[in-house]
Amino acid sequence: MSMCSASGGEDSCHGDASLCVGDDEPPPIATAPSTTEATVYRHKNWNDWRWQMANRVRTPQQLFAAFPRLAGGPDLTAVMTKYPMAITPYYASLIRRADRSDPIFQMCVPQGQELTDPPFLTPDPLEECRDMPVPGMVHRYPDRALVIATTMCSTYCRHCTRKRIAGTRETSITKRRLEQIAAYLTEHPQISDVIISGGDPLTMTTEHLEMVLSRLRQVPSVQIIRIGTRVPVVLPMRVTDELCQMLRKYHPVWVNTHFNHPQELTEESAEACRRLADAGVPLGNQSVLLRGVNDDPRIIEQLCRGLVRMRVRPYYMYQCDLVRGVEHFRTPLTRGMEIMEYLRGRLSGLAIPTFVVDAPHGGGKIPVLPTYVVSQSPTHTVLRNYEGMLIAYPEPHQRFDDQCTAPREESSPGVWELAAGRYSRIQPKETIRHARRQPCCTSDESVGDF
Ligand SMILES: *Cc1c(COP(=O)(O)O)cnc(C)c1O
Ligand code: SF4
Repeated sequence: MSMCSASGGEDSCHGDASLCVGDDEPPPIATAPSTTEATVYRHKNWNDWRWQMANRVRTPQQLFAAFPRLAGGPDLTAVMTKYPMAITPYYASLIRRADRSDPIFQMCVPQGQELTDPPFLTPDPLEECRDMPVPGMVHRYPDRALVIATTMCSTYCRHCTRKRIAGTRETSITKRRLEQIAAYLTEHPQISDVIISGGDPLTMTTEHLEMVLSRLRQVPSVQIIRIGTRVPVVLPMRVTDELCQMLRKYHPVWVNTHFNHPQELTEESAEACRRLADAGVPLGNQSVLLRGVNDDPRIIEQLCRGLVRMRVRPYYMYQCDLVRGVEHFRTPLTRGMEIMEYLRGRLSGLAIPTFVVDAPHGGGKIPVLPTYVVSQSPTHTVLRNYEGMLIAYPEPHQRFDDQCTAPREESSPGVWELAAGRYSRIQPKETIRHARRQPCCTSDESVGDF
């Protein structure tokens, strides 16, 4: 890669990024002339995703060449050794200022704080490794499973929840591993929804990704396939017609992408989403709340409004996981609740994501909302709306004999089973009182209907 700090870089002094590459230097074209400070020279192969992959910013030297202003700054070698850096020229071109005031900069340029390790942060806080019946496949929920198809991404997000995996090597799933996964899925027909994740599966070649999709499609119980990818954000030119043609053969295929900030909503990313949507792929977005990047209700509002315009449905907004290396990005839970309070009522429901905490110890995703139920009695529930208006909702006259009842299936006790009266308790076993309790009593131990 030839990244140079040539013309228009420091001197003309708007450019934090001088991504000039050029055998036959084309005239400069700024990606977003009205907004960007960066002076970006587009190589003739700029729109070729392989060129973008081959020319990622990967070393301190390449970083300083692209952003001369950083050259005198702290030595980032130790951070990059632990958590690799890669930034596509495209994504680097979205940086308007090469410092921490810029959200794109924060999300892709390593920072010394990544080496701060408070004790409650771990490499794998979701304990995915303990829910892996087959290496590379996480089976946590009854009806869905997640396949880690590659460890490679085009751009390594500093806030990545799989920092332990992403970029430490750059390899993709082997045929043998895929067969093991397919065998597991065949033996577990309750799994109807398979998520292809990583790493970023769309960094794989189309042929390799097709190998995965076609094998999964051979399992009759697999109904929907989802792909989790940041490609539309960091490498939108990867969404080629060839890729879309391939994907549409395996429908229903859903794609969840990962936009975090309105500055990522560019013409190129909109085009990538348009192509996917036109190929019949429903699009969702999963963003992460990041301190100093997007932890403001108005930024999330702009992001969500922009996404629905691009036919992308905001799906989840995540609380930052307790991942080693991301402490500086964490926000208090209350910030997310405040943002949800702000969004509801102001925005189309289509534009409002669900705020979730992916709980430590493999607890899975837990939605967190401000409280809308103010009070309850057997006859009325008092609700409040976003304006603070209080409304009494009268309950129907209580009758239970004509409720519809679908056939029951076996289920293990969960909170719903308690609410439905099918179990009478869930007992934590690790309490002192529980250890002290006597076996006796008259009540039988069955915890079925009562
Ligand atoms: C998030 C996740 C899923 C999918 O959850 P949904 O709520 O259905 O989007 C499935 N498996 C694992 C391991 C996950 O982390
Ligand atoms: S694209 Fe996804 S997997 Fe890759 S570094 Fe970013 S968050 Fe992690």
